[in-house]
Amino acid sequence: MVALESYDPAVLDSTPGVEFYPGIICRGFVNMHCHSELSYLRGAIEPNCGYTGFAATMAQVRGNFTDQQRSEALAEADREMQSEGIVAVADIVNDSSSFATKSASPIRYRSFAEVFGLKQSNLEHCQQLAEHFPDTTLTPHSVYSVQEDDFQAVCRSATTPLSIHFKESQGEEQLFENSGALAEWYEQAGFNCDFLHYNSAAERIVANIPHDRSTIFVHNSHLTQSDIELIMSHFTAPVYWVLCPRSNRYIAGSTTDTVDLLVKNKLNICIGTDSLASNTSLSIIEELKCFAHIPLEQLLTWATTNGFNALGLKPHGWLNICGADLQNMRITEQTTVKRIL
Ligand SMILES: [Zn+2]
Repeated sequence: MVALESYDPAVLDSTPGVEFYPGIICRGFVNMHCHSELSYLRGAIEPNCGYTGFAATMAQVRGNFTDQQRSEALAEADREMQSEGIVAVADIVNDSSSFATKSASPIRYRSFAEVFGLKQSNLEHCQQLAEHFPDTTLTPHSVYSVQEDDFQAVCRSATTPLSIHFKESQGEEQLFENSGALAEWYEQAGFNCDFLHYNSAAERIVANIPHDRSTIFVHNSHLTQSDIELIMSHFTAPVYWVLCPRSNRYIAGSTTDTVDLLVKNKLNICIGTDSLASNTSLSIIEELKCFAHIPLEQLLTWATTNGFNALGLKPHGWLNICGADLQNMRITEQTTVKRIL
């Protein structure tokens, strides 16, 4: 125990046993949505090409990289997240390429093997990933990319949390009305969906996910009040809503404007970076800067406590947040983060 004789930073720093950190000290950040295995696509897809343009470009460019480029990019992404104060990650996986980096990392990764495929399902492949790799569970990719049998099988197969891409584009809701960009794309590609008898994306969720299964909804850019009411009146298990504002801006050129709707409904908000295919860095503090009108204390709860709760992890790590507006308790463009423990 050290008696503090002064609040002068220089005096404090020279007091034995005392280190002075200006600003705020908080727990480590949780990145609640990432695809670390796509890290090799940093800068490979132009911003603002829209959701269908993004998916089409991804299909064109993803074969252009060697295994070595992919694994180097993964290691770099992992180091970047560590230096940005991220201590836990909800990571979406399609293959086994990320597991070697993740198992050697001090970051706690929870992997979600995402099931999708309207013509050909990857369910068996995902089941093998979940069987062979630690902390890996199955989840449907979204309500628009999985046929009914697989969707039901995955939603009802276990009790672990699900992590579902939800209401990321307008096309998702329009698909259930047989219109919009996604419906057009599916028609051209010859995809037939056997789930369009549901009236909406949210209706498909509540009809299939057991009410006591915790669920993480990711993106939520086109969420409506009636979606929220339908979903929240169904679930008894905790529901988490992840915002990835810089990814939405990168792909669609717009920021997430549903944040105020989520706040108004007092929902559990979390923060994700999405992948480096649709973001310029993997930094939670940079994501938080998109919400400069929200009190900083609330932002830090989203980036820490809510993420730990969603992943069933104990809070760990300590960060020092500097350069915030401490008078008004708001994040600023100058705000930075440093891991101190
Ligand atoms: Zn994603």
